[in-house]
Amino acid sequence: MSFQSLGLSKPLLDAIEKMEYTEPYPIQQQAIPVILKGKDLQAKAQTGSGKTASFVLPILELFQQKKTSRNLHLKVLVLAPTRELAMQISEVFSSFTVGLPIAPKNLAVYGGVPLNQQMVKLKNTEILVATPGRLLDMVSTNSIHLGKIEILVLDEADKMLDMGFQDEMADILRLIPAKRQNLLFSATLDPKLDKIKSSVLHEPEIIEI
Ligand code: AMP
Repeated sequence: MSFQSLGLSKPLLDAIEKMEYTEPYPIQQQAIPVILKGKDLQAKAQTGSGKTASFVLPILELFQQKKTSRNLHLKVLVLAPTRELAMQISEVFSSFTVGLPIAPKNLAVYGGVPLNQQMVKLKNTEILVATPGRLLDMVSTNSIHLGKIEILVLDEADKMLDMGFQDEMADILRLIPAKRQNLLFSATLDPKLDKIKSSVLHEPEIIEI
């Protein structure tokens, strides 16, 4: 199995080669084609399985294929439970974006640093990686507009619930357009996820690694 056979185009394949990924991991083999088709996805995958690239690569590919709007506004929202994870995801987006003909700007926002510092960087951001609390702080100061989100990723959704973010997640869901692609990743399939799965996902493909 090669990255090429998954439907990724030359610019992404070149970026993957630069990162020295020779073969897609199982989660990538299964998730990338589903995401490229525009379908919703529910994936059970652990940290270390390569789950980050399994959504970063097809999202960047959708930008290359101009499947997203061409205007410079926020189109992709990734929610993550912790500052560390948000920073890591943002770094993976950045490393694969270098050299792409269409290079969407990404930004990570999280608590623990002054709001202003992150606000000034928001201009022209198309992909936002955020912890739920900080995102709502930014929305309440009118510095972020979520009305044009086309893709929502919930990474480590089980951990977000464990950390008590259910109300924040529900608030965020009310602020983004109903018509969008949804990708939910979690390490477990705990029944506590049922409510969020049914409120977020629309006829998802299900992957278990
Ligand atoms: P993750 O589960 O997303 O945290 O990824 C775990 C680690 O695997 C990271 O250091 C990635 O850079 C690396 N990785 C992800 N996919 C591949 C791949 N196809 N080939 C080699 N390394 C990879």
